[in-house]
Parts: sequence; structure tokens; C-alpha cells
Amino acid sequence: MQFELDEQQRAIQDMAAQFAADKLAPHAAEWDRTSHFPVDVMREAAGLGFAGIYVREDVGGSALTRLDAALIFEALSRGCTSTASFISIHNMASWMIDMYGTEEQRRKYLPDLTSMKKIASYCLTEPGSGSDAASLRTKAVKDGDEYVLNGGKAFISGAGVSDIYVCMVRTGGEGAKGISCLIIEKDMPGVSFGADEKKMGWKSQPTRQVIFEDARVPAANLLGTEGQGFKIAMSGLDGGRLNIGACSLGTARGALETARTYMKEREQFGRPLADFQALQFKLADMATELEAARLLLLQAAVKVDAKTHDATMFAAMAKRFATDTGFRVANEALQIHGGYGYLNDYPLERHVRDLRVHQILEGTNEIMRVIIARELLKE
Ligand SMILES: Cc1cc2nc3c(=O)[nH]c(=O)nc-3n(C[C@H](O)[C@H](O)[C@H](O)COP(=O)(O)OP(=O)(O)OC[C@H]3O[C@@H](n4cnc5c(N)ncnc54)[C@H](O)[C@@H]3O)c2cc1C
Repeated sequence: MQFELDEQQRAIQDMAAQFAADKLAPHAAEWDRTSHFPVDVMREAAGLGFAGIYVREDVGGSALTRLDAALIFEALSRGCTSTASFISIHNMASWMIDMYGTEEQRRKYLPDLTSMKKIASYCLTEPGSGSDAASLRTKAVKDGDEYVLNGGKAFISGAGVSDIYVCMVRTGGEGAKGISCLIIEKDMPGVSFGADEKKMGWKSQPTRQVIFEDARVPAANLLGTEGQGFKIAMSGLDGGRLNIGACSLGTARGALETARTYMKEREQFGRPLADFQALQFKLADMATELEAARLLLLQAAVKVDAKTHDATMFAAMAKRFATDTGFRVANEALQIHGGYGYLNDYPLERHVRDLRVHQILEGTNEIMRVIIARELLKE
């Protein structure tokens, strides 16, 4: 067991931190206010290898580890939580094509995705199926060398702008075994998008429904085999959950540091806030809980890299604990700022709004407990 990063890991972390400070942080408040999706800046991130972090090198990926990815997303989220989180979703969808795609599919799609010339979304949720994802109803019926799709996906990050939709559909009977995964292009006939959802946070990226009305997708775009879609979807989420957890930790670390500075500067009762023991203890607990969450997250990343039998459970534990802790820490940092924390002159209210959704998506934190408990009670 060793707790120090090696030289390469520190270099990757520094590069992501520098990018976050130069290219994301100066604009994050404005992107939040204007709901701007910074595609150009994400392409610059892709230039550093952040769009195909654990995709193989022959198609432009960086072939790094899940641990590297966690360090990258922790650092990027210090600049803009919402944009870093979208880059994570793009990475998840791209990895699914790399992992399960044929050579033809990999060569057709991944060079454009690893450079972010094209952007990818992940489509599992439907209006009627969220936590119970295996009950999804979007139907894909084979017609010659095409699938004909009817139904729709809800809450899809990047939808309307993304070029590629890695999408779970029903090709067989009920339950997980009837689900397949298709690579769907934005311009395929019968594909359209709902209105941009008005939401609490994650405002630098669009969220829309994806609608299929007799949409026609070549059968050659089946990822893996028929019936394998649910497994593909879940394996993508192991990594996605680590990344979202890392985005919570990075954002919360920034909030903690902002609060520490503020405690030294702000005076009440003739003394700096930093003199009040109640606030000192609050700060101590915030730092302690963040460290604990970070250790669990990095351990889970190592397990996902090593494909251990308990990797999925650890990814769920880490996602649950890191996103709950991240939200709590950011909320306490806002409290330390008093009324000023509630104003958008300071970044705290944005951090709280952005981190709230991490407890809901990529599987809610209740579903993380379902996964953990199922594993614990298996024997
Ligand atoms: C901003 C945003 C972006 C998103 N992006 C994407 C995306 O890109 N792609 C995608 O596929 N999805 C995306 N989602 C969807 C997200 O993954 C779902 O919202 C989430 O999985 C929960 O599903 P639901 O909203 O239908 O809630 P429901 O499943 O209806 O759950 C409602 C409540 O019941 C609880 N619950 C449900 N079942 C159980 C149970 N068995 N035990 C205990 N509690 C339970 C849940 O935890 C929750 O608190 C996004 C969501 C948001 C808000």
C-alpha cells in the first residue's frame, strides 16, 4: 500500500490543474449564467488527451488508468464542475465504443471522439425508467439491415449538440437481457430532440430528451451483441461514477479553500471568523471527510483498473460517499460565508447547485446503496 502519486501521475494532475485555472475557472460563472456549452474549450481539453483518457492509443486515446482519470477530473472540476462532468460523460461513451466496438466501429468513430471533433452522449434514462433502467421501453425492431426505433430518452446530457448517442434500446423481451446498445448519429432519419431543460445546476451543458420516431439506424451500429446492452451500460457507469465522485471532491476542495481564506479575512465581534472554535471545528470536519472520501475514491479507481470482483461495489461506495461528502462540504463552505455565500458574487452557491445533481445521476445514491447491499448479502 502506498499513498504517494508517482511522477507521471503528478504531471497529469498538474496539467489538468493548469488547464482548469487558465481555461475553465475564468469563465465558469459566465457559462453558468448564460447556459453556454463551451465546445471550443472542451476541444482544447481534448488536445491534452482528456477526451479519450482510457481509450486505446491507436484511435487517438491516452490509454491512461481510471486512477489517472480520477486525478484529472478532480483537477478539472476546480475550474468548472459542470464542464468537467460533461467531459466525463463523453469519456464514458467513447470508452464503451473502444471496449465493445468492432475494429470498424472503433476506426469510424473514435478518432473524431478522442479529438472531440465530435461529441458523445450516453442514453439510458427514459421518462418512465430511471432507477429501474432495465425496464426501458424504447423499441428497436430489425428491418433488413437497419433497426427501426420508436420511443425516447430523457435527461440526456449534451443532447441536441452531441453528434453521437450511445443508446440503450429494447431489441428483445422484458428485462435486462432484452436490451441492446446502438451507436446513433445525430442526423440519422427520425432522430429529434426536446427542449433544453431548465435546471438548478450543470448549466454549462444542455439536457434534452432524445426522440425516436421510426428512426432508422444501420444494424452495423449495434455495439457488442444483441442482449448485451445492459451489461455494456453498467460497465460504463463504473468509470462514470468514479469520475463524477472525483468532480465532487475537486469542487468541494475549492469550496473549502475559499472558506478558509474567508474565515481569515472576515471579522465579526471584533475578531476574524477563524478565531471562533465552532467554525474551526467545522473546517476540520470538512477537511477530514474530504480526505476520507478521496482515499475511498482512489481505492475504488484502482479496483476498477484491476477489474477486481468487488470493483462495482467499491465504485458505488465511492460515488455515494464522495458525492454526499462533496455536497455537504460545499454547503458548509457556503454557510461559513453567511449571506455572501448566497450571492452569486461568490462561487459557493454555484458549487452547491452543481454538486446537488451528483447525488442523483449516474445512479442515485439510494441505488448505490442497493448495489452495495446486494453485494454484501450475496453470500
Ligand atoms: C442534469 C441531469 C443530467 C442527466 N444526464 C443523463 C444522461 O446523460 N444520460 C442518462 O441516461 N441519464 C441522465 N440523467 C438521468 C439520471 O441518471 C436519473 O435522473 C436518475 O438515474 C434517477 O432516475 P429518475 O430521475 O427517473 O428517478 P426515479 O428512478 O424515479 O427515483 C425517484 C426517487 O426514488 C428513489 N428510488 C428509486 N428506486 C429505489 C429503490 N429501489 N430503493 C430506494 N430508493 C429508490 C431514487 O433514489 C429517487 O430518490 C440525468 C439527470 C439529470 C438530473
